[in-house]
This record gives sequence, structure tokens and C-alpha cells, in this order.
Amino acid sequence: MSIDSSPDPTEAKRPGVGASLVEVFTSAQGEGPEVGRTTVFVRFGGCDLRCRWCDSPHTWRPVADWRIETAPGSAVFEGRTNPVDCGELVDVIDALAPSPATWISLTGGEPLLQPEAIEAVARGLASRGRRIYLETHGLHGSVLSRFVELIDLVSMDWKLASDVRPGPGVEAPPGEDFHDAHEAFLRVATRARQVYVKTVLTPSTRDEELEAMFDRIARVSSGIPLVLQPVTPMGGIKAIPDSKQLLAWLARAEARLADVRLIPQTHPIYGAL
Ligand code: SF4
Repeated sequence: MSIDSSPDPTEAKRPGVGASLVEVFTSAQGEGPEVGRTTVFVRFGGCDLRCRWCDSPHTWRPVADWRIETAPGSAVFEGRTNPVDCGELVDVIDALAPSPATWISLTGGEPLLQPEAIEAVARGLASRGRRIYLETHGLHGSVLSRFVELIDLVSMDWKLASDVRPGPGVEAPPGEDFHDAHEAFLRVATRARQVYVKTVLTPSTRDEELEAMFDRIARVSSGIPLVLQPVTPMGGIKAIPDSKQLLAWLARAEARLADVRLIPQTHPIYGAL
């Protein structure tokens, strides 16, 4: 699954490539297998999906101005104007990250909707030896394929049609689910150093869509880690599935896949971004 790549130092800065951001800040990772680790979050603006539980609807549309935390964990921000030059962005990310071990999360919104910018930022960060964590809804594999070997960890959402719709003006996928596009994306993502799949479980989640997801992941590799994430109630979601249901889904997943964990979000507990 891992590919040895040697980033080209000449790619540290690619002047002229602009990114449209919402915010940059430092916090602890609140989801997935790296939960609790210090992470610089780089939120790109714009998303082509609408998830009922979305905790960052302020990222759905590109904005004129973005904000950056003035010191790690301070929650004090200053405003900047979009677009930001990707070379300058790599500089500010580098300055905010407290140590070489700090994860840099490229997230959104959906970061792969800005192909030139996400590639330029990934190449710049890789040239400085930064640990790159890509958080994506897992539908734009052709964009990821341009630089996937530079990514240390792909956190790929597997969207279930029971709670997720395409955004305004976006064509619905054939069959009205996302399984084909997700499977194709996952095949690309396995070329990164690590990948895991995360899916959000709500009271609307259907057994058959979970079974289809388990099948698709196993077709790529049954060893790919899967995180089952009980929804955090917000937006249109008022309740979580009961524990009996969650444990039943966990058991069904473990019957098909080798590495499955049930992990809720942690950052809402301590009120972090
Ligand atoms: S893909 Fe992410 S940013 Fe977009 S609506 Fe879903 S949770 Fe929100």
C-alpha cells in the first residue's frame, strides 16, 4: 500500500496558484484512528455535497475572506483575503505547526474541488517533510491520483445515500448512491502511505447500504481500516442510533473486514473547533 516518493524541492512553492480557504487553525484531531493528535486544519472553501449532519456548513460555499489563528490553540484569528498564494500558504502552515510530528489536515468543504491548489499545497508541504492528512468525501479520485503518493494518510468518507445528497446544481450519481465512485476513489487512495474509510451512522442508516459498503471495501482490500462513527446530533439530526444497533453494525462489519472500530467524534466533548 505504501509507495516510496521523494518530493521535488523545486515544488516547495508554485507561485501563481491560488487557494480559496475558509480558515486555518490548530486543534486536536477529533475523529478516526489519529484522534487526539495535534493537527493544523486547513479548510478549503466549497463543497458539492450536503450531508444532513454536516458540522461545517460555513464551508459549503467559497467566501471572500478567510481567517487564520494567530497562535496555535489561541482561538484568536485575523482575517485574510481570498485567493491565497499556495506558496505563502505553505509558509503560514509551516509556522503554525508546533513540531515535525504535527499532522497537517487538508480539509473542507471538499479540498479536491480545487485541484491546482490542493496539489500545489501538498507538494509544498511534502517538500518540507510535513505529515499530510487528507480529509475528503472520497468522490474525486482523478484529482487525488495526481499527487496521492505524497499523502501520508487519506481519511476517506463513504457517504450513504440515506443522509447525503448532491449539492445544488450537482448531478446525482447513477443509482442514487455513491458506491461506484467511492470504490474507484478507494483504489486510488490505496496508493497513499495509509488510508482508512470512515462512515457516519445515523438512525436513518440502512442495513443494505452498509452491507454494500462492506462488500465494496473488501473488493479493494479487506485489510483497509474502517471507522464506524455514530453521528453527533446537529443540523437535521436529533438522535444517534441506540447502542444495540451500533454494536450489531460493528459485528456485521467485523465479519467482512479485518480492522473495524466504532469511534465517535471527540472534539464536541471539549468544545474545540
Ligand atoms: S462532504 Fe463534508 S463539508 Fe460537505 S456537506 Fe458533507 S460533511 Fe459537510
